[in-house]
Amino acid sequence: MKAIDVHVHIVPLFGYARIVGPEIAGAMRKYYRAQEEEVLKTEEEMADDFRSLDLKAIIIGFDAESNSGIPKIENDYVAGLVQKYPDTFIGAWAMVDPWKGQMAVKEVERAVKELGMIGVKFQAVHQGFFPDDRRFYPIYEKCTELKVPVSFHVGNTGLGAGLPGGGGFRLSYVRPVPHIDNIAADFPDLTIIMIHPAWPWHEEQIAVLLHKGNVYADLSGYAPRYFPESIKREVNGRLQDKFMYGSDYPDIQPKRWLDEFESGGYKPEVIEKVLYKNAQRILNLKS
Ligand SMILES: [Zn+2]
Repeated sequence: MKAIDVHVHIVPLFGYARIVGPEIAGAMRKYYRAQEEEVLKTEEEMADDFRSLDLKAIIIGFDAESNSGIPKIENDYVAGLVQKYPDTFIGAWAMVDPWKGQMAVKEVERAVKELGMIGVKFQAVHQGFFPDDRRFYPIYEKCTELKVPVSFHVGNTGLGAGLPGGGGFRLSYVRPVPHIDNIAADFPDLTIIMIHPAWPWHEEQIAVLLHKGNVYADLSGYAPRYFPESIKREVNGRLQDKFMYGSDYPDIQPKRWLDEFESGGYKPEVIEKVLYKNAQRILNLKS
């Protein structure tokens, strides 16, 4: 195994329009400067994208129903892919809609205990909530009790980018300080992953990573060539035990990410940690 990709969307199985709606999907393609037509894939073809590079992938569910009105993708389906392709999809993040209250708490328990999912992932911009709003604390209490990590998108997003009013999406939901920092302080036994370099708040992100022992980050969503300089320095230095490889497939192709990272001037032991050792330890993976 070359690496564990901790941030893999199953978008190619459905198409963007199904996940974010046609208008937002079009804007995202522009934002990511997608050159080619979106290609839909079979499950087998998607698994092959990782298998052919000797990668393991942790795939992601989708539920932002309350805020977006778009029907969720059942966690059962996502967990089922792990059952079907265990050589490649080694785990799955459940997604729960925090606005569903007690139903969300029950879904976390079901996703972890019955479906074997590894943790819970949120997209606060799409789901439209401040992560440190105390109304959502019962969800984090449940995750703490189940000893599974939670992950949150931080930093800028392609969702609604370029549209009037950003399609109504708000960037204030995804600032590391105060939102992630507050949860980390209130739940010291909860493992928290910040998704992406948090540009333009990556300095805040570094502060939280330095200050809160229970907070980590993945490096998905950016081609390594474009990582902010301070993130590059921290990955290669004092925060080398806190960052994990993630691509954000299909927006960033794993091969491109890995090529750029491996030629990015990082120390060999840092490359090993980022590509798989940190993920194995932080996410408590068996393999
Ligand atoms: Zn993502």
